[in-house]
Amino acid sequence: MMAARIIIGIGVTVLCFGVAGKRFHWLSKLIRSGQPAHRPYQPRKAVEAEVIEVAGQKKLLKWTVPGIAHFFTMWGFTVLLLTIIEAYGALFARDFAIPIIGHWSAVGFIEDFFAVAVLVSLVVFSIIRLKNAPARKQRASRFYGSHTGAAWLVLLMISLVIVTLLVYRAAQQKSGHFPFQNDAWAFASYGLAKIIPAGSATALENIFLLANVAVIAGFMVFVSYSKHLHIFLAPINVGTSRRPRALGKLDKTPDMDMENVTEDTVFGVGKIEDFTWKQMLDFSTCTECGRCQSVCPAWTTGKPLSPKLVIMALRDNMFASADRLIGKGEEAAESESLVGTVIDPDVLWSCTTCGACVEQCPVDIEHVDAIVDMRRYEVLMESRFPQEANLLLRNLENQGDPWGLGGSKRTDWTNTLDFEVPVVSGTIPDDVEYLYWVGCAGALDDRGKKQAEGTARMLHRAGVSFAILGPQESCSGDPARRFGNEYLFQEMAKANIESLNAVGAKKIVASCPHCFNTIKNEYPELGGNYEVIHHAELLAHLIETGRLTAGGAYQGKVTYHDPCYLGRHNRVYAEPREVLESIPGVEVVEMHRCKGNGFCCGAGGARMWMEENIGKRVNMERTDEALGTGADIISTACPFCMIMLDDAVQANGKGDEVKVMDITGVIERSLTKTER
Ligand code: SF4
Ligand code: SF4
Repeated sequence: MMAARIIIGIGVTVLCFGVAGKRFHWLSKLIRSGQPAHRPYQPRKAVEAEVIEVAGQKKLLKWTVPGIAHFFTMWGFTVLLLTIIEAYGALFARDFAIPIIGHWSAVGFIEDFFAVAVLVSLVVFSIIRLKNAPARKQRASRFYGSHTGAAWLVLLMISLVIVTLLVYRAAQQKSGHFPFQNDAWAFASYGLAKIIPAGSATALENIFLLANVAVIAGFMVFVSYSKHLHIFLAPINVGTSRRPRALGKLDKTPDMDMENVTEDTVFGVGKIEDFTWKQMLDFSTCTECGRCQSVCPAWTTGKPLSPKLVIMALRDNMFASADRLIGKGEEAAESESLVGTVIDPDVLWSCTTCGACVEQCPVDIEHVDAIVDMRRYEVLMESRFPQEANLLLRNLENQGDPWGLGGSKRTDWTNTLDFEVPVVSGTIPDDVEYLYWVGCAGALDDRGKKQAEGTARMLHRAGVSFAILGPQESCSGDPARRFGNEYLFQEMAKANIESLNAVGAKKIVASCPHCFNTIKNEYPELGGNYEVIHHAELLAHLIETGRLTAGGAYQGKVTYHDPCYLGRHNRVYAEPREVLESIPGVEVVEMHRCKGNGFCCGAGGARMWMEENIGKRVNMERTDEALGTGADIISTACPFCMIMLDDAVQANGKGDEVKVMDITGVIERSLTKTER
């Protein structure tokens, strides 16, 4: 019988591992066919990420129940590698034990504990899948569009791995070949052994040992052909992802040297082969869990964009193009243009670049970079984009702001102030601490101006010396960049950097989170290095150090909306709340979706200047949630969020009851009955 055990067990294993190995080899060639990726070597950060995200399952644990279930499944499979060694050893010797630890009862206990924990987790996964079945919940299900049949098959296969394991261990106990000193410590197998008839123990041991080996080997094949590839790819993807996260700056700053453009020059990503190997690894790693889809403001308001479906569509196209990509069958299928065939234009242009998908993805897929890469190709190579954005691009190019008002208007907002704001000419005087980067909305939009005025008044009140660039300031380039017009972005950024360097700017305080993000995180690659803070951070510091004190005149409920580019992209969550909480009489109420889970206002990614004709408007969705808190002020720290939320409050007919204002406006309101 031992010979049969060896022949069957090893035969099945060699066959299955051969098939799986071939598939992994193919996959590795496919991923390596991608373009070079800009991945600086950061071993310490990679190790940290492996410990925190893979071993600690930090991102998965954000969703408590499925997170705990996944934690035990992942660790269960890791610990149960011991049982795989034992099973293969038992093929050759019934009394096989792993050297040194192989007889320890504690090891038997741990193995059984994790076997049971995995089984319980599988029940939890099944309940979650049944409760969220796409057939029941349609688009509201995070599994909508995922391969649910394959997911059920995986649950079944994992159950079989555990069940066959427990039965063969129980039969081993009954037949006297269990390797551990005390059978009872392996409590689950021990309990099962009690119901196994002594006469059938050896037969059951043989059958279930072989079944266990066969299921494990078959599982390898299944994994290599399914979304469960993530078991092997996720640690690699996490280890090679951008650190600290794929948010804030965009990944690549392409060389936009137009003088050396040749026929072969490609800006952005037009075809699957234009993606980098890291992006191809992203596509292969997606687990189809749908966490990104469930938090996407576009998807949840009825748009066709789901970050999960984008990644799945790109993966399917990559697999379908494999022969061409890895150099076989070059004359076969022509490479396919992605947008319009694989990715619908409405999908591409619905993205607000809010980063909620990146924040949620447990395997660190970098959706925003992929979307902007495709936008770049559409804008720079094909001139295909929503035509209403033409005006934005023209205004940015000709006047340096989205409204086309021009630099001469950039100091008008200071006219309402009862003190003078110095406009820099020459270099910034030594006694001026901060250059205040006002931003286009703060300087030029009537509602945005309130934010700039409030910020200036608060800085003045706290005795902070600051000056502005006035006509020399121009759009930071954020909308051009997120829209895909990298050329325009770089032109604008370089001009701004030239102005900033010429005036000797060192410390910049910005009111617009988009400017804040771009100047802080993206200008350094183009030669602009400054200490940049957002006014929420500066105000919190001034309050903490006693230089600014709120009044007590205002009593009411305030909710705070996290701007994506201040919150998720730059992790500034505490400071704006500290500012609000410093006001006596103010009750700060949180929306359900806040901080890292905050929900976009709908303006980012240049969406502010595009029509929104599909589904519910994102700003309406966010404002409904804000109104649901019962707050009488919806506060934020971004002029574009203010505009979007105020539009929605007005559209809701609540303009008389609920005010939308920057956090500076809330402090000012608290001061209305005291000195101002
Ligand atoms: S960045 Fe925001 S809008 Fe764009 S796909 Fe991700 S979640 Fe959706
Ligand atoms: S992209 Fe990430 S979050 Fe979205 S389905 Fe895939 S693994 Fe899940």
